This record gives sequence, C-alpha cells and structure tokens, in this order.
Amino acid sequence: MIRAYKFLMRPTVGQAAALAAMLADHCSLYNGALQERRDAYRHASKTSIKYGQQSAQLKDIRGFDPERQGRWSFSSQQATLRRLDKAFTAFFRRIKSGETPGYPRFRGVNWFDTVDFPKDGDGCRWDSTPRDPVTRVRFQGVGHVKVNQHRPVVGRVKTVSVKREGKRWYIILTAGQPQPEPLPPTGSMVGIDMGIANFLADSGGEFVPSPRHGREAAAKLEAAQQALSRFPRVRRDKRTASHQRAVDKIAGLHRKVRRQRLDHAHKTALDLVREYDVIAHEDLKIRNMVRAPKSKPDPEQPGSFLANGAAAKAGLNRSIADAGWGVFLTILHAKAESAGREVIAVDPRNTSRTCPECGHVSAENRPTQEKFHCVSRGHSAHADTVGALNVLRAGLVRRDANPA
Ligand SMILES: [Zn+2]
Repeated sequence: MIRAYKFLMRPTVGQAAALAAMLADHCSLYNGALQERRDAYRHASKTSIKYGQQSAQLKDIRGFDPERQGRWSFSSQQATLRRLDKAFTAFFRRIKSGETPGYPRFRGVNWFDTVDFPKDGDGCRWDSTPRDPVTRVRFQGVGHVKVNQHRPVVGRVKTVSVKREGKRWYIILTAGQPQPEPLPPTGSMVGIDMGIANFLADSGGEFVPSPRHGREAAAKLEAAQQALSRFPRVRRDKRTASHQRAVDKIAGLHRKVRRQRLDHAHKTALDLVREYDVIAHEDLKIRNMVRAPKSKPDPEQPGSFLANGAAAKAGLNRSIADAGWGVFLTILHAKAESAGREVIAVDPRNTSRTCPECGHVSAENRPTQEKFHCVSRGHSAHADTVGALNVLRAGLVRRDANPA
C-alpha cells in the first residue's frame, strides 16, 4: 500500500537558489543525454543508445564537471537519465504501432521542474532533523530545507521528489508498508466520541483515558514558554546561550509530545481495528467549524468550567488534544484500510444532545460536561457514551444511504 504526500517547502533564499541550480544542472544532463541519443540515431548506423550506457558515463561526467554535475546526488542523476529512457521507450513504441512518433524534445530550463530521488537516504533525507519540531528534508548540495508538513506520513518513506511550481517548491513523497492480510470479520461495530478528559469513549460504554503525558506536556510547555518570553526577540545568531537553551527546551518538549502522541495513536487505533468491522467517528473538520468557543470545560476536573484566567492553559491543552485526534484519525484510517475495515466520518452536530433512547434533542439533556440526562424521559448515562452511541447510529444511517 503506497501513498503519496505533497508538502510545501520553505527554502531560504540561498536554498532556493541551490534548488534552481539543481534543476538547471539536471536539465542540462537530460538535454546532453538526449543530444547523444539523437546523434547516434541520425548516424548511418542508426545506433540506439541505452540507459545502461549513459548511466555508465555518469561517473566521468561528474568528474569532468565537479563544480556543477559533481555536486548533486548520483542517484537523482540516474533517475533523470531513466526519465529520458522512458521518453525513448514511448517513442519507439509509437513508431512500432504506426502512431505519430514525436521524437523526444529538448527541455528549456523553465520546463524542467522535477528531480527524483529513488530512495530516501540516498542523496536526500526525509525528516533530517527528527529532534526538531520543524520538519526538514536534506538534499545533497542544498542543505536542510524546512517543510510545511500538514499531515503525518504513515509508513516508511520510499521515494522523494522535488518539484517547482511557479515560485513555489514542493516535496512529493511516496510512503508505504507491505500490505498485511485483511483481518477476519468480527461482526461488531462501534461509534467513538473524542474528548478531553477521556481521549475517547466508545458506544459500548468503554473509555480510553487521555494520555497523561498530554497534560504533563501542556504544563511543562507553559512553563518553558514563559521562560522563553523573558528573552528579547532577536535573530537566531544573536541569541545568548541561555536564550538558546530556552528555545531548545521547547523544541525538546514538542518532540517528546509528537513521539508519545504517535505511540498512543498507533496503539489505540490498533485495538479498535482488531475488534470492530465498522468504526464511526465524528468528522473533525465539521466539529472544528461548529465548535462553540464560549464554555471551556476544565480538562483537569470534568464537569466544571474554567475561570477566564485559566482559558489560555485550556487552550494549550485543547490544541495538544486536537493535534492528537488528527494524528489518531489518520492512523486509524490507514490501519483500517489495510485490515479491510470500514471507517465512517459523521457530522457531529447534536451527537452530544440527542437522547439515544427516545431521540429527544435538547442542550438541556446535558447538564454538565460529563452527565447526560434526558429531560423528556429521564434516561441518563455518561455524556460521552451517549455521544458515541449517536455517532454509531449516524454512521450506520450514512452507511445504509450509500452502501459500499
Ligand atoms: Zn430520552
């Protein structure tokens, strides 16, 4: 199972110039190799040159031109020669089938926009600064380039490509893992409700508690950010040693949260996928849109709400939890797909205030964060269990409406 990811890169001015030079040199390699094939083909002997022959010359080309060709990754140059080879294979196929052949063309430097790295770790390194909260990718001859990694990458990174689109630079990854056997059906279904006090509640009345580390990390981050705020805002190279330590401290905490979050998400998702054929969850995108910002439940004490002063801390808790759910759902979807399970995202509106017994919808059904008490018939339960039941119900309705 292979997945592709495309992320925006944020090169410095110098790195952008190096990336442009990398494209230009790969372009001239492509055109040079094309010229060689053209000359050979036009020769009376109609010789055709193969990829293997051109690849064998790479070492010499790099040796003759160490300033330009010699500074880029050998494997990425092979990939460029292979691209030319593909163009020729298609050309000869068209001749054979009697189509208009369309001889492979020289590329203008502005039309050559991609360099491929066939293997992560060879001339490039995805996530080259794993201990830093900012993701970077390292390219030979360019350096560590910042990446806007807006979603987690599941599985091992296999190939990496650089692509220029107008003035923007992108990185395209493929990642995947060997396809495991689908799990045998269990005949059970579940709805889940994601919360703060509990990471999730399921429709069967079980709870997965929020990882303790989330709360600890929030407290530590708060302290570390306060410590950092005592230093003046200056350029990176103007920081004092203690200022730099304060910056590193925050980076270290973020790194730790990231790793723990990933472990927790993997474990929780695996438990669900093993046990259930169908898993319904709230659609986080809709939930974030409709979430009322007013009442902030206290994550330390479910059932009570925070005074204004504590709102900032709750905000930090909340953002850590939000990121945790996002990562969890990405992993859940990936695991479910490879196990042959079905995951359904449902509109979360009213899932917390609808009575699962009689269908009565009212905000008053939920007197506190934790409690559900139906004002119509008096049914009462844990509010998150009720939420999960309603999520399951909504999921099954959706599933019946569009059967797979
Ligand atoms: Zn009711």
